[in-house]
Amino acid sequence: MNSQQWIAKADQYIMRTYGRYPLVPVRGEGCRLWDADGKEYLDFLAGVAVNNLGHCHPKVVAALQQQAAELIHCSNYYHIPQQIELAELLCRHSFADKAFFCNSGAEANEAAIKLARKYSLDKFGPERYEIITATESFHGRTMATVSATGQAKVQKFFDPLLHGFHHVPFDNVEALRAAVTPNTCAIMLEPIQGEGGVNIPAPGYFQAVRQLCNERGLLLIFDEVQVGMGRTGKLFAYEHFGITPDIMTLAKALAGGAPIGTMLAKDEVAAAFTPGTHGSTFGGNPLVTAAALATVRTILEDGILNATCEIGDYLLGELLTLKEKYPFVAEVRGIGLMIGMGLTIPGADIVKMGHERGLLLNVTHDTVLRFVPPLIVTKQEIDRMIVILDGIFAEISPGSGAKD
Ligand SMILES: *Cc1c(COP(=O)(O)O)cnc(C)c1O
Repeated sequence: MNSQQWIAKADQYIMRTYGRYPLVPVRGEGCRLWDADGKEYLDFLAGVAVNNLGHCHPKVVAALQQQAAELIHCSNYYHIPQQIELAELLCRHSFADKAFFCNSGAEANEAAIKLARKYSLDKFGPERYEIITATESFHGRTMATVSATGQAKVQKFFDPLLHGFHHVPFDNVEALRAAVTPNTCAIMLEPIQGEGGVNIPAPGYFQAVRQLCNERGLLLIFDEVQVGMGRTGKLFAYEHFGITPDIMTLAKALAGGAPIGTMLAKDEVAAAFTPGTHGSTFGGNPLVTAAALATVRTILEDGILNATCEIGDYLLGELLTLKEKYPFVAEVRGIGLMIGMGLTIPGADIVKMGHERGLLLNVTHDTVLRFVPPLIVTKQEIDRMIVILDGIFAEISPGSGAKD
């Protein structure tokens, strides 16, 4: 079937939860995707920061194929070697002592919210359950994570939301301090806001947040679902800020595209989850954890983190050159390969024009082009992307005559 035929069938059978583009990818390799009509695309979205090793990385494919033939699933009533090895690997390379596995970012954040409440209940009693999060944050689409998310467009239609969340402006420690009450148990933040428009806090912010948490006995939860797993040139984004959280969540890129989520925590906090308090049927099953093991080992062993820093600087520099050329580019900001380009105009048309020209890009928060290519992206691929983007920018520039 060609793309048009697939889209017609989707209209008939798929619920319209997404504003999908008329594009049907069917095959991928590295930074390239092909659609059902055989058209090739350069992928600078990477499944929204999921395909950090590119599409169908041979080591991830081999791990999945081998594990699929051995054992795909077994219950968490039993011990799962791949899950145990993955937990060890993640704990060895982070602040954490223990891991819990689930299937998505939202579920990882659900687990973090439940753990924070249980820990606080055990330690301080039932009055202390409120969690402070940031405006423009994004933590997922389940009821608890929608309540945690600081964006009205995600929350509307679903009242009553879960009780006990307060939102304060990101990158403002005074607002946080003022929002803490005797009922507060935790502060939950993205180290860099992704869906909120690639927002990077000022130096010193997270140190001050950590200090506030220490003073008031609050847990610090980092949602690294988007920025973890090498995206910023370090395995975890918190490493940039000279502090450690008490709980961290990961998902998107952890298993090279296989659905997984995890919550990591220090021993003292993790101990609040006793048998029967939380669980997941599929969480950390042999298939996804085998894929995750291959993904994490490849990131650590193949020099991916250093390469990400270097290539990220190159991409940032090339985008800054475009900023000099086009006045509607207001700002370029980023760390590693987590880069946003703030525009003074909506970005939706640019994304569509990119598709026509064989480039997959993303706009978030209406006016921010988000560049989250695979971490294995090459200079040549960046150069090709810049040529395409330059062409689009030239066409939409006032006075080019190409736009009414
Ligand atoms: C994508 C994302 C989530 C939600 O992850 P799902 O796997 O879609 O549930 C949560 N937090 C952040 C920061 C994200 O980017």
